[in-house]
Amino acid sequence: MIFPMSSLYKDDSVNQVLLKKLPKVDMVLARPQLQEACGQWPYTYIKETVQNYLETLRRGILDETIDELPELANMEQSILDKLSAGSLYSLSRVINATGVVLHTNLGRAPLGREVGEHIAQVAGGYSNLEYDVAAGKRGSRYAHLEKLLCELTGAEAAMVVNNNAGAVFLMLNTLAKGKRVAISRGELVEIGGAFRVPEIMEQSGAELVEVGTTNKTRLSDYQRAVAEKGASVLLKVHTSNFVMTGFTEEAELPKLVELGRETESLVLYDAGAAFLFAPELLGIHSGEVLRKCVENGADVVCFSGDKLLGSAQAGILVGKKEYIDRIRKNALTRMLRIDKLSLAALEASLQYYKNPMLAARKVPSLAMMSMTAEACCHTAQRLAEAVRAAAPKLFVSVAAVEDEVGGGSLPGVMLPGYAVRIESGVISADAMEAFLRTRPVPVIGRIQKDGLLLSVRTIFSEDERDIADAFAALQEQLSQEADAE
Ligand SMILES: *Cc1c(COP(=O)(O)O)cnc(C)c1O
Repeated sequence: MIFPMSSLYKDDSVNQVLLKKLPKVDMVLARPQLQEACGQWPYTYIKETVQNYLETLRRGILDETIDELPELANMEQSILDKLSAGSLYSLSRVINATGVVLHTNLGRAPLGREVGEHIAQVAGGYSNLEYDVAAGKRGSRYAHLEKLLCELTGAEAAMVVNNNAGAVFLMLNTLAKGKRVAISRGELVEIGGAFRVPEIMEQSGAELVEVGTTNKTRLSDYQRAVAEKGASVLLKVHTSNFVMTGFTEEAELPKLVELGRETESLVLYDAGAAFLFAPELLGIHSGEVLRKCVENGADVVCFSGDKLLGSAQAGILVGKKEYIDRIRKNALTRMLRIDKLSLAALEASLQYYKNPMLAARKVPSLAMMSMTAEACCHTAQRLAEAVRAAAPKLFVSVAAVEDEVGGGSLPGVMLPGYAVRIESGVISADAMEAFLRTRPVPVIGRIQKDGLLLSVRTIFSEDERDIADAFAALQEQLSQEADAE
C-alpha cells in the first residue's frame, strides 16, 4: 500500500515535515545572486552566513516559532541582507554608550571622519613615509611630525613611537641604562595591561632607587638619593589611574628640575596623558599641559597619543635635542617605530591644535569632554524620543549620570551628563544589554538598578539611527515571543 507523503509523518508534529523541507546549504549557495555575491565577499563568509541563517530557521522550527518556510528566493534575499549588514570583520565599529570618553576596551580615542579620510588617503596608496620628495632622496618617518610637535609644546625636539609604554622604555634604555634612577615610592605604579613601572625600569637596564613613601615624598628624599645613593637620573611618573587624597605630598616637577640642575642629574617625566592646551577651555580643571612640562625644564617628557591628545595610539617624546637625537638612534627604537596609519592620524589631529578652539571642536574626544550637562540633557531628550518612537512598549526616560574621561587619564574627574534610561516590563536590563550587543553595530551600554543606561556624551549623532533600529528590533522580538506563548 502506498501512503501519500504527508501521512508518513502523521504521528510526527508538523516540525518534522518542515525540517525535512529545509534546503541544504549547497542548494542555497547555488542561488544566482549568492553566486554573484562571491565576487564581493569571501566565500567562507557567505557560506557561514548561509549556515547561520539555516540554523536559525531550524531552531525556529524546533521551538515552533516558525510554522512555514520562506520561499527559496526570499531566503536568498534575507541572506543577502545579512551579508550587507553582517560583520565580515572581527574588529569593527561599536556604539559607545558608556559615557566613558577614552574607553580602554573600546579603542580609546575615536578619530573622527576627517582624520579617518586622511588615513585612507595616505595609506590607501603609496606615501612619502620615508622619502624626502623635495630632495629626491631617502627621508625619515620621524621628520613628519617634529616641527609641528615642537611648535605645539615649545620643545626643542620631538619624536613619535608606537605607544607610550614603548616611549618610557626607550627613554630609560637610552638615557638611564646602567644608571641609578630615583623615583618616588608613590609613583611605582601599574598602568594596566601589565605595564608596571618597576618592571619596565628593570627591563630597560636602569637601576631603581626608591625614594620617599607611598603617600609622601619630599624633595629632600630625592636630594639624599643623589647625594648618598649615587642617583643621576630623576624620574617622575604621573599616577594616571588613581587619586591619592589625605596626608600626601609629592615633589613637583619644577623643584625636581632645579635639583637636577644643581646636581647635574637628568630629569625625565612620564606624563602618561597630557593636554596640548589649558583644559579650562574644555571646562576641565585638572590635567597636565605639555607646554608647562617643557617650560618647567624636564629633559624629556613622554605621553600617549590616544589619551588626552585624542588621536592614534602612539608614544610622543618631547624635550632637549641631544636626548631626543640619542633616543632616535637607539637600535631598539626600530622595534617600536610608529606605522604610517598612526602617523597620518596624528598629523591630521595635530593640525587642529594650531587653534585650540578648533581642536576642542574637531577632536572628537575633546568635544565629548567639553559637552555641558545641558547639551547632554538636550541630546538625551532627542534620543529618548527616537527610542520611544521605535519601541513604544518600552519605558524610556532621561536620567542624570556621571560620565568619565577614562583611559586612566583624569582619575577622579566626573563629567556631569545625561543618559537615556530604558526599562522593559517584560525582560531584565541584563537581557536588553545582551540583546544590544548582538546587533550588527553592537551598542555598549551599562546597567543601573533595573534600567539600561545609554549615556549620550559618547554617542555620535550618526549612531542615533542605529540605536533606534536596535530598539525597534528588540520590541519586534519581544512581540514575537509574546505571540508564540
Ligand atoms: C597610559 C600610560 C602609559 C602607557 O601608555 P600607552 O600609550 O598605553 O602605552 C605609561 N605611563 C603612564 C603614566 C600612563 O598613564
